[in-house]
Amino acid sequence: MSERYSQDSVTFKKVEEIKRSNISDHIKSVASKVLEDKPPSKAEIVYLLGLKDAQERQFLFDLASCVRHDNVGDTIFVKGIIEFSNYCRRDCLYCGIRASSKVKRYRMTKNEILDVSIEMSNCGIDTVILQSGEDPFYTAEMIVDIVKSIRQTTRRPVSLSIGERTVEELKTFKAAGVSKYLLKQETVNREIFEKVHGSDYDTRISLLKELVALKYIAGGGNIIGLPGQTLSDIADDILFMRDIGVKMAGIGPFIPTKGTPLENLPMGSAEITLNAYACTRIAIPLVQLPTTTALGTIDKNLQYEGFDAGCNVIMVNFTPETYRSNYRIYDNKRKVEFYETT
Ligand code: SAM
Repeated sequence: MSERYSQDSVTFKKVEEIKRSNISDHIKSVASKVLEDKPPSKAEIVYLLGLKDAQERQFLFDLASCVRHDNVGDTIFVKGIIEFSNYCRRDCLYCGIRASSKVKRYRMTKNEILDVSIEMSNCGIDTVILQSGEDPFYTAEMIVDIVKSIRQTTRRPVSLSIGERTVEELKTFKAAGVSKYLLKQETVNREIFEKVHGSDYDTRISLLKELVALKYIAGGGNIIGLPGQTLSDIADDILFMRDIGVKMAGIGPFIPTKGTPLENLPMGSAEITLNAYACTRIAIPLVQLPTTTALGTIDKNLQYEGFDAGCNVIMVNFTPETYRSNYRIYDNKRKVEFYETT
């Protein structure tokens, strides 16, 4: 048995309960491996991702919650996001701010970004996330200037989610005080990636690995429900993130967006997304795992269910009202707001 779990731990007790139950052998095998600190096999993850039976899913979610409890505790981290530009040079088929979208474009100034960061900090958020389309207007120098001002003023950790930049730029951002960087692989299936994202598969994967090597708190992530994607692909995404050593995983369902080439596709499955959260927590016990706005867009209660499936992060949107409706990466995007109670 791994040193992670003593006989008094909630995970140990849950595994014992699962072993005594009449649940499927697959779940029993995954549970036993948890105690030995071994990840589930790809075949086991595929099985878990496809679970539909309510009792089996409850065992899976309970196991993931116990793994979270024993590894990172039950604190929920509230991160604040500013979507500071919706200009994008990429033309991802799924995304509402793709280059060829007719959306009204905006860019926030340094002072606007700083004002919002201060507001976030005053609300007590854990991390300032700066997100944008892939917008080369913001040079590395500009990003560094913005980040340094936020760090000096708020002292909060800063996370970037601004797409692909050169390795030199990533080093510069790190030196300027950026501690976290989210660059979702979207899917490790090359064929699907090249269809929906473009020819940058190798660049994106190598940059994500570079972020880990540069000792960022590096975030990967995938979209559930891309055209042609199978449970086997999603299992590959989870094992890929584990193998390369990401510390954050942003996993959300595909939401069709009007005016994009994928507008008529069905929404990604909320059930598979929740199963994927639980599998990711079990495969990567220390991971920072948001229950995503995309899941909340399908149904806000489902976003809260993410916490029962092993998630421990929620992102609150601080993008000013004047810009927010134009950061329309998908339709009917849920507004996760922050209200002070005093
Ligand atoms: N440009 C940056 C990048 O490429 O990493 C970050 C911004 S991008 C708009 C943020 C995330 O939105 C993407 O990583 C993608 O997973 C998600 N996204 C965009 N369109 C989506 C859709 N229709 N359904 C679900 N997720 C979507």
